[in-house]
Amino acid sequence: MKLKAEIIAIGTEILLGDIVNTNASYIARGLALLGIDTFHQQVVGDNPARVKQAFEEAYRHANLIITSGGLGPTEDDLSKEMGAEYFGVPLRMDEIAKNHIAGYMVRRGRAITDNNWKQAMLPEGCIPLYNDNGTAPGFILSKDDKILIMLPGPPSEIVPMFDGQVIPYLRSLSEDIMISRTLHICGMGESAVEDKLHDEMIAMSNPTLAPYAKEGIVDLRITAKAKSEEECREMIRPVEDHIREMFGDLVFGADEETLTDAVLKLLRQMDLTVSAAESTCGGLIADRFVRQSGTSDRFMGSITAYSNRSKVWLLGVKEETLEKHGAVSEETAIEMATGAAEAFQTGAAVAETGIAEKTDSSKPSGMVCVAVKVGDRVESDTYYFSRRRNSNRELAAVYALNFLRRILLQVKDEQSQNS
Ligand code: ATP
Ligand code: MG
Repeated sequence: MKLKAEIIAIGTEILLGDIVNTNASYIARGLALLGIDTFHQQVVGDNPARVKQAFEEAYRHANLIITSGGLGPTEDDLSKEMGAEYFGVPLRMDEIAKNHIAGYMVRRGRAITDNNWKQAMLPEGCIPLYNDNGTAPGFILSKDDKILIMLPGPPSEIVPMFDGQVIPYLRSLSEDIMISRTLHICGMGESAVEDKLHDEMIAMSNPTLAPYAKEGIVDLRITAKAKSEEECREMIRPVEDHIREMFGDLVFGADEETLTDAVLKLLRQMDLTVSAAESTCGGLIADRFVRQSGTSDRFMGSITAYSNRSKVWLLGVKEETLEKHGAVSEETAIEMATGAAEAFQTGAAVAETGIAEKTDSSKPSGMVCVAVKVGDRVESDTYYFSRRRNSNRELAAVYALNFLRRILLQVKDEQSQNS
């Protein structure tokens, strides 16, 4: 049976805008990773008639409904009753659920009320989903090619229940398993990446290829569906090789690997330390290194020299360079990188100077100059971003790090050719 899902979030608070429907987004993402299509979602208040209507509406397009919320102990929590009614089954006391609820309440030193026992009532014939993080159990009901999965509302309860019990159940319905591998690309925008991929790659059905963009990085997720993990990996490999060939050194890593990891790996291989000189980034480059643990053996520090005078005093940028080329110029960026390498006594250095947003300068907003020094080699480049102030700053830090990574790679390749 090909599953088509619909998510129904139950709760008047969501309709009023008091809470954000993060449960639907969590479930939708989980379903997408399983390869289950979701074409439609609903939000409905805690009202039995409307919940029932929502079920009828959903089963017109879908055969799998997943709900969140309305399983609580209060009078207005009637969605479980509506689920049982829709499937034409009565509610029965579930002894294990009762024990779970008693255990949960005792552990928290709370008195058990009659309302709590209402939560231990589950539709006859369901698969119970016991709740280790709250009182309301969820459940799975299925009949005549229709599946209903009802889950509690609090994210701290629904997330572990979905991951630990619902996903394994949904996987068990399919003989196939799915494996994904995500390649990370930096240095090219999302639309340029998509243009470069052939149309037939975007349209592939197994494996599928899906691009996602965030903060200057484009992720390409390759997902294969097959009988075994090995088979999936074999299907992914040629697609990965092809993408790596197309994008060359713009691909900086895969899966959990971050841009900083890629830079650190090269620094370790080349036995180099690094420092930074930042202007509009204001410490964001340093943050990328410090955010990760275990980097103090490679990253020595950063100087934030935001004003022209501090660029001169702290980094030794020449007055005449600032006068002739301006603070936002590759010439200034190069002197900043040289100054940082000198101050921190590092073999490598990266520098950034840019215009985060429109000023009276003749240079455009979002213009960022970066420079990298590795040993005696000095390189620079200029980028133009068109976001708002702080997004431009984030992008500048990512592109500066990526430029550092690419120059390190080139130097390393040259060294290995010469030796
Ligand atoms: P409870 O036992 O807490 O009453 P419940 O299953 O009845 O659980 P609701 O009463 O609908 O769930 O919601 C409880 C809380 O869970 C809400 O106040 C809200 O903080 C959170 N919540 C509910 N639905 C969502 C949702 N769709 N997305 C994010 N959070 C939600
Ligand atoms: Mg409730």
